[in-house]
Amino acid sequence: MEVICQECKKVLKSTAKGEDLSVYSISREIYNPTIGSIASSINIKLKEESDITESLKEGESRLSNYRDCDLAESYNFCQACYYKLLLTFESATHLLEKERDIYMENLQKVQQEKSKIDAEKDENQEKVLTTKKEELESELAALIEEEKILDEETKQLEEEEAAITVKEQEYWEKENEYEYKLKNHLESNAQMKNQWKSHFSGLTKHYDYLKKLNVLNDVFSINIEGEFGTISGFRLGTLGSKGNEVENEEINGAIGQCILLVSTIALKTEFTFSNIDLKPMGCYSKISYLNEGGKKCTYSFSFYNKTSFNTGMQVFVKAVNLLGQHFQKKFNHIKGKVKLESFKALSLDRFRFNSDHLEEWTNACKELLKVLKWFIYMSQVEDRIRQENTKNN
Ligand SMILES: [Zn+2]
Repeated sequence: MEVICQECKKVLKSTAKGEDLSVYSISREIYNPTIGSIASSINIKLKEESDITESLKEGESRLSNYRDCDLAESYNFCQACYYKLLLTFESATHLLEKERDIYMENLQKVQQEKSKIDAEKDENQEKVLTTKKEELESELAALIEEEKILDEETKQLEEEEAAITVKEQEYWEKENEYEYKLKNHLESNAQMKNQWKSHFSGLTKHYDYLKKLNVLNDVFSINIEGEFGTISGFRLGTLGSKGNEVENEEINGAIGQCILLVSTIALKTEFTFSNIDLKPMGCYSKISYLNEGGKKCTYSFSFYNKTSFNTGMQVFVKAVNLLGQHFQKKFNHIKGKVKLESFKALSLDRFRFNSDHLEEWTNACKELLKVLKWFIYMSQVEDRIRQENTKNN
């Protein structure tokens, strides 16, 4: 039987050759895993350490040749190879220990890092939570503050509402009072209105009554006083005898009234004398006449100047005749409705004053005054007709 060194192939024992050297055996069970771990160390972890790696590589490639050898339960080596192999194993062990140390160190580092991270994480989380809590607390405080403000506002609003209610109450009381006063006022106003209405109606009636009045009769009262006709109390005419002698001033006054009356009536009835102009001036009244030659003559009714008086009287009687004809023409158609005496024109000759025929002159003046009285009556008739027409319209 022959024993050969697995490494150097040296014959260690041989019966035939007579060799009997020391044989170093390593069981397969130990050898194979050791080689495996060396190989993995080379491959994985120890790439940087080139020298050791190289020797290990060499060892590994050499030793791995035996791995699948099933011939024996153990591998046999010579002394030199065996020690070489041990050296390889030691190196590998050393490397593995180093590797382990590095692992442990790294593991420690990792663990430290992890706990640091955890701690930081916890801290951060706590910080976050604290911040969140603070935020929430601050929000809560704000909400409480807001609620407080809202409560105050609500209270204020309630107070305001109460004040408004009081004011509203006051307003309605005042309004009612005002309504009451207004009602009273309107009632008294209506009463006053009625009073005024009745008063006004009275005034209207009075006004209507006054409108119907013809004042001419009162202002120019024409009467017969003894032998004389009078106007406004002045006698027109004179008889010369004692007690019947009329002063010049009275005659002037009477004729002045006559001029005024005719002038007024002509104005009232809207009658215009074409060539005669009456100038009533009391005792100093005058009359103007535009003759056919276009000459205007003015005469003064002064009984002291008989010539002027006489001429003026002639013109005045002409004017009276014209007015009389106007009335007769105007109211001829309503004969029967009113008492309408026919107008007879006065004779101018009778009005020429003559101291020898005082009675005739005085009677003529009476006739003149009668005509003037008829004028007043006609003016009243005219008024009445005008009023009736107004009423009918
Ligand atoms: Zn050997």
